[in-house]
Amino acid sequence: MTTLPLEEILKQAKSAIESTVDLKSLEDCRVRYLGKKALLSEHLKTLGQLPVEKRPVVGQQINEMKQTIQHLIEKQADVLTQKKITAELAKESIDITLPGRSLNSGSIHPITHTCNTLRDIFTQMGFIFMEGPEIEDDNHNFTALNIPPFHPARAMQDTFYFPNGTLLRTQTSTVQIRAMKTMPLPLRMVAMGRVYRRDFDLTHTPMFHQLECLMIDETVSFANLKGVLTQFLQAFFTLKTAIRFRPSYFPFTEPSAEVDISCLNCEGKGCRICKQSGWLEILGCGMVHPNVLKGAHIDTKRYRGFAFGVGIDRLTLLKYGMSDLRTLFENDLRFLQQF
Ligand SMILES: [Zn+2]
Repeated sequence: MTTLPLEEILKQAKSAIESTVDLKSLEDCRVRYLGKKALLSEHLKTLGQLPVEKRPVVGQQINEMKQTIQHLIEKQADVLTQKKITAELAKESIDITLPGRSLNSGSIHPITHTCNTLRDIFTQMGFIFMEGPEIEDDNHNFTALNIPPFHPARAMQDTFYFPNGTLLRTQTSTVQIRAMKTMPLPLRMVAMGRVYRRDFDLTHTPMFHQLECLMIDETVSFANLKGVLTQFLQAFFTLKTAIRFRPSYFPFTEPSAEVDISCLNCEGKGCRICKQSGWLEILGCGMVHPNVLKGAHIDTKRYRGFAFGVGIDRLTLLKYGMSDLRTLFENDLRFLQQF
């Protein structure tokens, strides 16, 4: 039986092992050269036919060759394993050129945003901010504001009453009464907060927000009122905003006026939003009625004051060009996230 010379087998094995491309083909190589049916095993079978003195020498040669091949296989296995790891890492590597995933962060509610702006404007003009309870008594909400028991503003359809006679305040003017009773004069104060009325349509919600402004001093006049209003409205909207007064009636002010601003959409030329008038109603104001001052034990011969109240929600609608007040309170995140 003829067999390949040992040197030739080693040469072939070396070349085959080094040319393997993965661990599977390397295993095939191992079986071919070191397995039971391998070429080396054929050599072992011929050992018996050799002269006795040659057998140990050839046997040793075969064993050494087996070890050499085993060593070559282990070396190649290391190389292939490293290659595999490198390939996998390359495949799984982080692509730093991809755009980052942004965090789903919240946004400030438009009403809160308006309140923050108003707080800045009035603080700069020297007004202090005060708060009062939302559950009020009849006196602070009506009587002290010169609203007698027969006044239509007291009608059941407007006010939420509790069985014990208290009510949900219908205006932030209640804070103005508390301020006049407790704060030293002269006084410049602003109150912002929630108020409640039994109303629900496109421009009314049962809960809404009001800002109340009060200034009391010895020389306060309608001119001061006009100055503060102009500065406030131009700071809140734009410097181009013009204001006009229309005579009006409120029980707690005398004289009273309603204030319009030039239409923010057409700047006074006339459009659908201002119903072609060029003006938008914005707030009510006036000089504090002497009866209100007297009720707070203020000397009406010495002190005078002005007051105005404005809907924070209406300011927000106008500023952002919205038409439906209810969208502010429906808490639809798709709507609110625009701001
Ligand atoms: Zn207009």
